[in-house]
Amino acid sequence: MSIFTEDIVNFRSVLQLAYNFLAGRDYLKKKKFQERKKLISVALPFSDLVFASGAVPVFPIRMEQFKVHSYLTALNSATNLIGWNLTTKLLSFVRKFDVLKILDTVLDDVIHTINDKYNELYDLGIDHGISSDFCYGITGLTGMFVSKGKNLDANINFTIRCSAWNKYSETLKQFVPRQIWVDIPPRNIDNALELLTDNVSQAISDLEEITGNIVSDNSLNKQFRIGNQIKRFYKTILYEFSASDFYPCNPATFSEILALLGLSYQDYNSDNQRYLESFSYLVKEMRERINKGIGMDVSDMPRILLTPVFGGWEPESHEILYELGARTIYADWEILNLLEEISVSKNSNPVEEYAKFLLNATTRGIGYDQEALTDSYIETAKALNVDGLVFNQVFGCHSISNCYSLLRRKIRNKLEIPTTVINFNKIGDNVEQVKTRLGAFMEMF
Ligand code: SF4
Repeated sequence: MSIFTEDIVNFRSVLQLAYNFLAGRDYLKKKKFQERKKLISVALPFSDLVFASGAVPVFPIRMEQFKVHSYLTALNSATNLIGWNLTTKLLSFVRKFDVLKILDTVLDDVIHTINDKYNELYDLGIDHGISSDFCYGITGLTGMFVSKGKNLDANINFTIRCSAWNKYSETLKQFVPRQIWVDIPPRNIDNALELLTDNVSQAISDLEEITGNIVSDNSLNKQFRIGNQIKRFYKTILYEFSASDFYPCNPATFSEILALLGLSYQDYNSDNQRYLESFSYLVKEMRERINKGIGMDVSDMPRILLTPVFGGWEPESHEILYELGARTIYADWEILNLLEEISVSKNSNPVEEYAKFLLNATTRGIGYDQEALTDSYIETAKALNVDGLVFNQVFGCHSISNCYSLLRRKIRNKLEIPTTVINFNKIGDNVEQVKTRLGAFMEMF
């Protein structure tokens, strides 16, 4: 699978993001034991309040020990010693001696390492006795808490409109006694915003108690500003670069980058400033490469939106689509309205602004009202101007996955682009079927 590597070795920002994702364990240990920071688990991209409180958000898989490819470790040490620019020069030097074979396995390793760990934790969730009715995402998360939950100081829950998710959240206190809840009221209640603002305030008080820090309007706005910049960069990649006829890299690599961004966006790799810098570098590097004509002409490759993937998906899918002549876009957080900016205007009340952001996301995006959710799919597919849509039906999901028939009808009436559905249970389980389904789908182009 060397299709990724040639491109990836040039992308220092991607390497940095990958390294920071995988090397989370050591980083978090340092934060907890040397800097005495509190570790608070988050799932889904809801890390703002934790950052604002001075604690460290953790998407729990990042507490695991990953096999970090020695090249990435070496690169990281070199980077710390001599800086990124020189490291890039060093790489060009290394490439001249054709030791690319060593580098060839790097990104492939990163992706496989993460996937293997996901499956391992999924099995741990099953061994723990979680009902086989739960989706892959929830089962894997349970495994993460079984494995490393004891290292956490608290967990923060946001009640989204998926009953399985809320049922699972209730079980987490067996692993992490300190639970913080942000209950998001149903959208049809008149005073929903007021209630949610109170609930956010309560969560902030809990965080203050745990960390011993005061969460001021300034600390909230500072975090929102960082988050807003990250969201802008994320959108640039989705709307500008992914729509371009010329890609800064192989399109399979591009999908790989989108997958990595989707995963790491949940906790910003536990460091908001560092994550912002990597994102900003990534945009800069992509733009420079496009301007210099380094990359690949993809004008004849249809763009396929594959979604939802946040509850689990078969990562081989984008390779299969690539081999079939298409490019794959992952844009879950945009579809679910989680890339919307939070107002930091002068007279705004940051607690209320955050409540508005949550309410908007759960009303139009992650609210699991099939009508609203399918509209959001249609709007995003239209805005991204994709040529086709592959819906990922996750086994055990009785919320999002149910909306495919409604979505297909809407696509037929409003978008008129080819669509298909693939089924997912566990990574690696269903690859042949996915191949057959995507093969038939691509014949429509
Ligand atoms: S919506 Fe579906 S995939 Fe997402 S958490 Fe709920 S059951 Fe799992």
